[in-house]
Amino acid sequence: MEKTGGKGLSMARRLYTSRTLGLALGLLCVGAAMYPLDPAPWVWVLMLLNGILWPHVAYQWARRAKVPFHAEHRNILMDAFLGGFWVAAMQFNPLPTAATLSMMAMNNVAIGGLRFLLVGTIAQVLGIGIGWLIFTPLSIAQTTPLQLYACLPLLSLYPLALGWICFRQATTLGRHKRELLALSRTDSLTGLLNHGAWKDQLEVEFQRCQRQHRGGAVALIDIDHFKTINDTYGHVAGDIVLRQLSKILKQNLRAADLAGRYGGDEFCVILPDLPLASAAAAMDALRDRFATLGYEQNPALKVSLSIGLAAFNPAHTDATFWLNDADRALYEAKTTGRNRVICCGDGRPRRELLDPV
Ligand code: GH3
Ligand code: MG
Repeated sequence: MEKTGGKGLSMARRLYTSRTLGLALGLLCVGAAMYPLDPAPWVWVLMLLNGILWPHVAYQWARRAKVPFHAEHRNILMDAFLGGFWVAAMQFNPLPTAATLSMMAMNNVAIGGLRFLLVGTIAQVLGIGIGWLIFTPLSIAQTTPLQLYACLPLLSLYPLALGWICFRQATTLGRHKRELLALSRTDSLTGLLNHGAWKDQLEVEFQRCQRQHRGGAVALIDIDHFKTINDTYGHVAGDIVLRQLSKILKQNLRAADLAGRYGGDEFCVILPDLPLASAAAAMDALRDRFATLGYEQNPALKVSLSIGLAAFNPAHTDATFWLNDADRALYEAKTTGRNRVICCGDGRPRRELLDPV
């Protein structure tokens, strides 16, 4: 219900602007066509009410409605019905009739596509029928030059305004789409790439290395005894540690490197065009920085990282093999004492850098 209300309200606001402008310009057009027919005073009053008062009534009606979207739907049908009514009232005067019907058709398509066009047309036909019964037009009136000029503002300004409203809506939708896409690729806790987005990047990097015969490395980083940190200091402290690690990753990696959160306390990094030895040095510096971090809330908190590193191997047919190499290296780092970087350069894990302590 909340969602429908929000959507309907923004629709009502958009329609308020276009309806106010469209009906004011339409009043000029219909008024010029009606004047030579010398209509009764109540017709003039109805024309003024429709042209000036109705947009405000329609907006307030939609705003106060339980489901603004439905109220606005009714308002649009009312617009179409009254449009048809005025077409019959002005004796089907060709130019004002064409201007009124085409502007309404454009409006209905822009708002609700073919369905609104169809329903609007039915309401218009109904309006023409009622108008016919009341005014019984016997002939088709001729459009005078003055009536032509009176229609020009509606014909020129209204499409411009509606086009502008549609353009702004399309721009907003485009922005929302980009924001949602970015959100769907981001890990909410750390702001790094999430598992799926990072794996996509790994695939891209693997293809690039194969195509361009270039090198690169992949690192899997895991916090040591993170469960104990959670159990001892609480999950909030655990989250702070995870955010700290992501901050260090963002600060210490090159712009071309791609860091992500693989899941839980495991992080992953793609280091394009970096020889394994340089990648190992970079990862060891990272491990060192993380271990020496002070945690204001819990000074006693000690943290360390185990890192598995693997170079791109041209013999591999799939990016998963690359990742498996890094995973095996990480496993070795864990089983040989943690707090270290282990490299896998040739398919077999080998210990490259150990913690100095
Ligand atoms: P090891 O040294 O072998 O890596 O041990 P570990 O305790 O770090 O490994 P384990 O996989 O047993 O524990 C990971 C823990 O991370 C378990 C899970 O509750 C915790 N965890 C996963 N996601 C989050 C999170 O978003 N926030 C917090 N605070 N904890 C998380
Ligand atoms: Mg861990």
